[in-house]
Amino acid sequence: MLIETRALVLKSFPYSDTSLISRIYTEDRGKVSVLAKGARRMKNNVAALLEPLNIVDISYYDKESRGIQTLKEVSAQTIVSRIREDYDKLTLALVVSDILDHTTHEHDPNPILYRLATRTIIEMEATTESGRTLFWFFLLQLAIRTGFKPNLHQCGRCNEPIKNGILDRTSGALCCHRCLSDGDIRLNSEQLTYLQTMNEYHIDQVGNLHIQDELTEGISRFLLSFVSYHLEGMEKVKSLKLIEQHNK
Ligand SMILES: [Zn+2]
Repeated sequence: MLIETRALVLKSFPYSDTSLISRIYTEDRGKVSVLAKGARRMKNNVAALLEPLNIVDISYYDKESRGIQTLKEVSAQTIVSRIREDYDKLTLALVVSDILDHTTHEHDPNPILYRLATRTIIEMEATTESGRTLFWFFLLQLAIRTGFKPNLHQCGRCNEPIKNGILDRTSGALCCHRCLSDGDIRLNSEQLTYLQTMNEYHIDQVGNLHIQDELTEGISRFLLSFVSYHLEGMEKVKSLKLIEQHNK
């Protein structure tokens, strides 16, 4: 069966002398691997289109019994360039694509997740800011869309309104200081207010949001810890190490 769909390229690696295998996250079919025969021959631009983080229109022959499908055609939708020129932004974008890769299964479509990830990449490509706020928006929305919406307004234990909080490592909820005294993943009142505000926004508004430098590390740590606690597969996201190194 011929499938035509839009897709985000997650990873590509050489296969035989001239071919390429790409793992892509498609809008209609979820994660799929495709074989692009002859893609690495000279004068063939398929390899350039299948660089990670590009968004493409793709058609392939699908046979569910096969692990790898055969690519028919690919054309450009959004080819990222600004992201590749900025190391910090590239790191964040690669974590987005790695999360999609490792927390989803093959042939398990989730068009909402597809749109969230591709909109994040497109907005990162467009903004002249660092891309951090978009990355946080992605993590927050990822948690919400997979059924783990963080409660940023009430303590996870006593339900009292909170102004700041500590992540409870046993329940994965944000708790107040009266209920929980120790824990290294904390949000102060400015960080919590920032996330509450971000939660009200649409992705269009997030790319150029301003953030004070001293707030960023805590917000990153909280969101990554929260998502890692709730989502299976996050431990396989190796590119997270790049962010941790950067935060040190
Ligand atoms: Zn409490």
